[in-house]
Amino acid sequence: MREAAYIWMDGELVPWGEARVHVLTHALHYGTAVFEGTRVFATPDGPAVFRLEEHLARLVRSARMIGLPLPYSVDELRAATLETVAANGHADCYIRHLAHRGFGEMGIAARRCPTVVSVATWEWPPLLGTSGVRLMTSSWRRNDHRVVPVAAKATGPYLNSVLAKDEAMAAGYDEAVLLNAAGHVSECTGANLFVVRDGRLLTPPPGAGALDGITQDTLERLAADLGVPAVRQDLMRTDLYAADEILLCGTGAGVVHVTAVDGRELGGPGPVTQKLADAYDAVTHGRDDRHRDWLTPVPASGGPARSAARPHDPASDLVSRA
Ligand code: PMP
Repeated sequence: MREAAYIWMDGELVPWGEARVHVLTHALHYGTAVFEGTRVFATPDGPAVFRLEEHLARLVRSARMIGLPLPYSVDELRAATLETVAANGHADCYIRHLAHRGFGEMGIAARRCPTVVSVATWEWPPLLGTSGVRLMTSSWRRNDHRVVPVAAKATGPYLNSVLAKDEAMAAGYDEAVLLNAAGHVSECTGANLFVVRDGRLLTPPPGAGALDGITQDTLERLAADLGVPAVRQDLMRTDLYAADEILLCGTGAGVVHVTAVDGRELGGPGPVTQKLADAYDAVTHGRDDRHRDWLTPVPASGGPARSAARPHDPASDLVSRA
């Protein structure tokens, strides 16, 4: 991963290496942070952020779900995002928004720990590659909504993903698919999943334990454009084995086909996956006028020198804004 020049942290651009936190940060101990992964794509009109409004809205929802006060408005977060991408001079990149409970006081009670917000960007190729994914059913079950808020993109619950990913990679697979407590398919460690069967797209419903994926929603809308029926329904593990095609989708991963699941070969990419991947590529790169409103152009920057980047003082994290 190549470092960018700046990270936005609590209102200012700081040099990449100076975006630091205190070791007694509440979020490090108790997983009290929410985050977003968003992408900027190169378009004929310059770099553009894909579905920025939906990502910021989910960040706000996630914060509300875990009771984390967000000290910035959506307008301020949008401006910070565009400022960071422009200052770093990316043609395309990944954006990581993070809002975490900083250090205020030790202990589980979070109220006296101020929220620290950061926006980091870097150039990142599709996270699962482009040549297909070998999938393994995890021995770990997906987080359960009766235990943690699964619809919040919160850091604590991601331990579940980390364990499943490590297990799959140690066993020689690329990625894990997690079943929920009821035994239904939820999602992968960092991507949603679609099965193609008899020309229809099937994906688990809300409540199955998956993140409300923005790429998942994008593909459902693109499927409607293409006349491919898309249905949200519970899927069993054996629905994966009987699938004509399986594809994974997410901001980090893009759209990628599954070549095998638990050693059962699927090959591919199949025709429906290929059509959706092409449509996603067109829409993200500004070649589909029907969904232009999904792209927020990044204003041209005079380069990093234009941004008044002052070193961030980690000690300022200790000051409660409460
Ligand atoms: N599920 C999980 C667990 C994820 O981490 C991600 C990536 N954010 C997704 C699904 C896909 O979500 P999105 O399309 O909004 O990036």
